[in-house]
Amino acid sequence: MNENFKVLISKEELERRIGELAEQLDQDYLGREVTIICVMRGAVFFTVQLTLRMKTKLKYEFITISSYQGTDTTGEVTLMTDLRESIEGKDVLIVEDIIDTGRSMKYLIDHLKSKNPRTLKVCVLANKAERREIEVPIDYIGFEVPNKYIVGYGFDIDNNYRNLPYVAYLEG
Ligand code: 5GP
Repeated sequence: MNENFKVLISKEELERRIGELAEQLDQDYLGREVTIICVMRGAVFFTVQLTLRMKTKLKYEFITISSYQGTDTTGEVTLMTDLRESIEGKDVLIVEDIIDTGRSMKYLIDHLKSKNPRTLKVCVLANKAERREIEVPIDYIGFEVPNKYIVGYGFDIDNNYRNLPYVAYLEG
């Protein structure tokens, strides 16, 4: 591991909290079928770990978005690949890695709402509230994180370090 990484959330803390979220989701969606929307690529690890712990009947969809940060502060979000099946009338849960400025989630919510799901909720592993520029509703939060760039457990730097079994930040 890069020696400048400091562990922010250990493997054990991740497992414990994700177990709690899975239990909560099972209670809240009791008796329903849920369509999980995994936001590529960062949320893959969280989605798998979370949903393997759930008993609720699930379907999976994957969506890929990309956010570009220009020289100004306006990040532009682009849809790279859309859902394969209709979510009209379905109970839909977006599973995302992190909400930072809120731009990606705002885009996702607007995009998915236009497909007329019955319900649409948001579950996020990490919330970086300090950086928020656009308010977005969040139904389930794994961890509040400080304003630091995090890696591991799906979080990357140039597509590296995603498979670290903990969440760390780069010091210095
Ligand atoms: P937004 O600013 O639109 O809320 O977040 C855009 C995307 O930036 C997130 O989905 C995530 O992929 C990335 N991002 C934001 N903060 C971090 C971070 O601390 N570490 C990593 N690896 N990605 C981040």
